[in-house]
Amino acid sequence: MESNGGDAFRILEEIETLKAAKSDIEHRIANLQVQIGGVAVEEMTDSILCPPISTNDAGFGHGLSPEMVYRYSRQLLLPSFGVKGQSNLLKSSILVVGAGGLGSPALLYLAACGVGRLGIVDHDDVELNNMHRQIIHTEAYIGQSKVKSAAAACRAINSTIDIVEHREALRTSNALEIVRKYDIVIDATDNLPSRYMISDCCVVLGKPLVSGAALGLEGQLTVYNHIGSPCYRCLFPTPPPTSACQRCSDSGVLGVVPGVIGCLQALEAIKIASAIGEPLSGRMLLFDALSARIRIVKIRGRSLHCEVCGENAAFTEQMFQDFDYEKFTQSPLTPLPLKLKLLPENVRISAKEYKERVVKGEAHVLVDVRPEHHFKIVSLPKSLNIPLSSLEGKLPEISSALKEEEKCNGPTSSPGASLYVICRRGNDSQRAVQLLHKMGFTSAQDIIGGLESWARDVDPNFPIY
Ligand SMILES: [Zn+2]
Repeated sequence: MESNGGDAFRILEEIETLKAAKSDIEHRIANLQVQIGGVAVEEMTDSILCPPISTNDAGFGHGLSPEMVYRYSRQLLLPSFGVKGQSNLLKSSILVVGAGGLGSPALLYLAACGVGRLGIVDHDDVELNNMHRQIIHTEAYIGQSKVKSAAAACRAINSTIDIVEHREALRTSNALEIVRKYDIVIDATDNLPSRYMISDCCVVLGKPLVSGAALGLEGQLTVYNHIGSPCYRCLFPTPPPTSACQRCSDSGVLGVVPGVIGCLQALEAIKIASAIGEPLSGRMLLFDALSARIRIVKIRGRSLHCEVCGENAAFTEQMFQDFDYEKFTQSPLTPLPLKLKLLPENVRISAKEYKERVVKGEAHVLVDVRPEHHFKIVSLPKSLNIPLSSLEGKLPEISSALKEEEKCNGPTSSPGASLYVICRRGNDSQRAVQLLHKMGFTSAQDIIGGLESWARDVDPNFPIY
């Protein structure tokens, strides 16, 4: 804990206030219990709306303290949940891998409902562009560890449960040790190697896995490796090509969509932990936000031939530790933005260099190959938007733009107008330059690092997204 003297005093003061409130609440509960002859708790305001808790196993044989009875009373009032469900939950431990868009609501609800031990794994820091969906974090934590931020939020909601901070990326080297300490795992990550790794780890250690995903305006959810349900590898024995794997940072996501899926993940984990209801095993929930549709589809059962959980599989802890998930999926565990290098140096210029050429008044055309909806967010002055996907069919537009530029600048000693290509991060622009060279635009040059470099090296006020 990092705290100075002022903080410590404030905390001590808060502890005293809470103790006073606790004693008051215990007193009130005792009074109420006398009034109703020993039944756990009768709520004062909305009791008419809720069915009364069964009196059979009420009383103090359940191990819940008076404070717990009061805190969780609305759950205890559910006949299908009751004291049994609550004490199961209080004895359970749940690990949430990822304190992002899915993990945020999952963690808040799990802390609130009284999971005994709640583990949080994440290696990342809170950023401003997380805030629209990662609702557990607040602006005050920008730049600080997500685990620290999430743990503080959980403790603020429920100081009576054990919150464990794992400020590291989950890897084959630490996954067994961390996952082993928990009963249930929630996969709230957003990358393919983590999905395979977490699923394999859960199979090796025999843990149920509540897996969720959200992208754009759609989400999905299922429970793997639980009462006969498949593991992730049963469904996807070979990873999809990397081009098929999209991420929120590239494709976008509406914040409430992972919010919905994260809540459902918490719900499934609570059902498993408290042993109530029917878990989403062997079925997958598909959520389509735009049409407001939720579909549940049956998925195949455990595959006999699965390399990890199949009948003859012998996937050991050692094999897990030695397995290279990044190589297997051809994508990194902690993804950094892709940095392609497709072009020779002599056809690439830095954003700074481009700026100097603009200032000098060089005759040129700047083609921005990002999709149109990206272009609408922000663009450089006088750039021509031709998305990479339609570049080949729009070459005449480039030819006429070049001619126009040459005409405007008059006959000069230079060989004609230059052609520069830019995109968001400098990958698609290289692909575009390759194509342009092939199609005869041999003078096309790439602006290294795209608009992100422009924002970093030339204009700090240029918005990045
Ligand atoms: Zn399997």
